[in-house]
Amino acid sequence: MTASPMLHPVHLVGAGPGDPELLTLKAVRVLRQATVILIDDLVGERVLEEVLDGSALARPRIVHVGKRGGCASTPQAFIEKLLVREALAGEKVVRLKGGDPLVFGRAGEEIAALREAGVPVVVVNGITAGLAAVNALGTGWTDRRHAQGVMLVTGHAQPGASGPDWAAIGAAAATGITLVIYMGVAQAPQLVAQLLAAGLPAELPAGVVQHASTDHQRCGLSTLGGLVEMLHSQQFGSPAVLVIGHVLDAAALQALPLADPATALRTG
Ligand code: SAH
Repeated sequence: MTASPMLHPVHLVGAGPGDPELLTLKAVRVLRQATVILIDDLVGERVLEEVLDGSALARPRIVHVGKRGGCASTPQAFIEKLLVREALAGEKVVRLKGGDPLVFGRAGEEIAALREAGVPVVVVNGITAGLAAVNALGTGWTDRRHAQGVMLVTGHAQPGASGPDWAAIGAAAATGITLVIYMGVAQAPQLVAQLLAAGLPAELPAGVVQHASTDHQRCGLSTLGGLVEMLHSQQFGSPAVLVIGHVLDAAALQALPLADPATALRTG
């Protein structure tokens, strides 16, 4: 009988929103030690290149498992099988995901599959896109003069499932909760209509940030009532985060040293 190889934990690593300098030191260390890296498309190539260029170790095998050039995404079940297979073969596996692995990242399914196969898992948090986006707009999720909390919501319903309860979310926003909506640009007309129907005022500030923290970052500021028109006329597309709430009030924005928050450049 051959001895089973030593099992290294699989690291689920957050790559942050795009700027390589927003990676954690822990992420850099485990990426440099990896022998196999499974990478999503939303994770900038630049992030990985910058980390591996500084490494004296042998280059890892890199497997792209996201959506590429309009092709269908790699099925989630296949990614889970691949993670398990590489880990059981004794590889040092890193699953690199955009932002934070646990924020709309399907990390939960991957952790469950690995645990079921007896593979240990370590999660390395990353800076989620919604955090970088609100920063780019010149404010924060919970500026206490304007908000008591924050809600991260997906604008994308699971196939076959009903989407988020926008009436309830609108009611929360009305009590001073900032809404940070991921994957919401395509669904913006429907979700904005439902938030307005839930009683949120049309003049509530609303903004969008596309490619937050990268050289391609674009920001837009409007109101809930004007958001859809702005997204359309300025051709905002994915990946982008929508932000809705009084943290975007002019007073809050002016308090920060940004001359024009609507065209604010990348952080740092
Ligand atoms: N785990 C990721 C989110 C994955 S869901 C995180 O924590 O950030 C994918 C969605 O994230 C995109 O549709 C978009 O809404 C958002 N997103 C990811 N990167 C982004 C970026 N650089 N700028 C703006 N939005 C981004």
